[in-house]
Amino acid sequence: MQAITLTQIRSSFINASRSEAARLTPPPGFDRLDWDALDVLGWRDPKMPLRGYLALRTAEHRLVSVLLRAPAGGARKNRAVLCELCRSVEATNEVLLWVARRAGAAGRNGNTVGTLICADFTCSANVRVAPPEGDMHPDPAAVVARQIDGLIARADQFARRVHER
Ligand SMILES: [Zn+2]
Repeated sequence: MQAITLTQIRSSFINASRSEAARLTPPPGFDRLDWDALDVLGWRDPKMPLRGYLALRTAEHRLVSVLLRAPAGGARKNRAVLCELCRSVEATNEVLLWVARRAGAAGRNGNTVGTLICADFTCSANVRVAPPEGDMHPDPAAVVARQIDGLIARADQFARRVHER
């Protein structure tokens, strides 16, 4: 993805208050991120671990960020479930049910959207894992390209669900 600044992220939230956006702590190493290796930027707040953020470009290239909450205590999902963003079957990382308050009035009325996402938002790395070359996948690079497109499309769909009025 195109490099984005913290200021851009803070002003692109569709479901967070101004003060929630102001209080966020950037991911470690934010200044040195390899943007080419990222299709979406997701991270857990280093100071508030039950809080996560997902920044992405919509199909219209608009920068949109979503504030997410992890379930407090327990309620962890193991790899029996797939992350709904990367859908990686190879990854072994944990997946959590992240909950996003809906945008606008719906969110103020307590309406939320839940989605299974990798606990540490490793989706961009997961989709870059090529399948073993073989009869099933004669062209692993093409598979990776499809996986990247799929992640971008599903992140966009998720942002739309949060935004729906
Ligand atoms: Zn994922």
